[in-house]
Amino acid sequence: MSLQFVAQSTSGNCIMSFKNKVVIVTGASAGIGAATAVLFSKEGANVVIVGRNEARLKNVASQCAAVGSEPLLVKADVANDEDARRIINDTIQKFGKLDVLVNNAGVLESGTILDGTILESFDKTIGINLRAPVHTTMLATPHLVKTKGNIVNVSSVLGQLHVTPLANAYSTSKAGLDHFTRGCAKELASSGVRVNAVNPGPVETNMLESFGESTGIHDVKTALGRVSQPEEMADLILYVASEKAKGITGSVFVADNGIRLA
Ligand code: NDP
Repeated sequence: MSLQFVAQSTSGNCIMSFKNKVVIVTGASAGIGAATAVLFSKEGANVVIVGRNEARLKNVASQCAAVGSEPLLVKADVANDEDARRIINDTIQKFGKLDVLVNNAGVLESGTILDGTILESFDKTIGINLRAPVHTTMLATPHLVKTKGNIVNVSSVLGQLHVTPLANAYSTSKAGLDHFTRGCAKELASSGVRVNAVNPGPVETNMLESFGESTGIHDVKTALGRVSQPEEMADLILYVASEKAKGITGSVFVADNGIRLA
């Protein structure tokens, strides 16, 4: 049974409603983040969409508005500290509260030890994929404590697998994000804030298209012989962020078409 199906009662009423909830999705200008922003909008949330590419954000904003309310668009680089503060401040100024933070923005840069390119790739990747979620988490926490809200970090199955040395920095950043998720969940549990991660395998997005071939990720076989669509990840993120998952914290949800079995 798909999660999308679970989200609907037989009467057609939504049973994972995010009506009046405020949700930030970073990296919402494309791929998984865009699909997630549209799904939360459809479920009634006030969504804050974050990314660097304004034209693409505007496109996603109109998709959100077509199924729900007009989102707040914040053009920001999550790795820039001032921008990170602006994401949270603008959200609170506009909506007065925060219920869910989806740390989804990420990059996949290739670099190896032997060719001497690992350090450049490491600095950029850790900055966006790991340090930025740590920073937005810290900034969002006082607001999430007030709403007993939650955080969903979009990690990767590559945090648990080394499929290619070219993605070493990426895998390391996602392994770090998984561990941060657990540490953070432990620290914030007594404040009523849940923290979880969703760890996709290959998903058909710009990231996979741009870097899949050069990093060899395209050649990795999944047990189910398929790659996922961004909307499948959005379904899982929505479930983890919902009241249905109220007993779940510190968990890492792998959705990889069985890549670890292949
Ligand atoms: P895309 O390349 O399609 O989208 C990445 C998004 O992140 C874009 O919206 C981009 O927006 C945003 N982004 C990147 N850097 C920054 C930054 N510094 N500040 C703000 N936004 C930023 O990739 P996916 O949708 O595939 O990736 C989303 C997440 O899913 C990532 O964390 C990725 O690691 C993870 N993932 C993806 C998999 C896949 O196969 N596709 C597999 C496993 C995990 P903009 O350019 O406008 O800034």
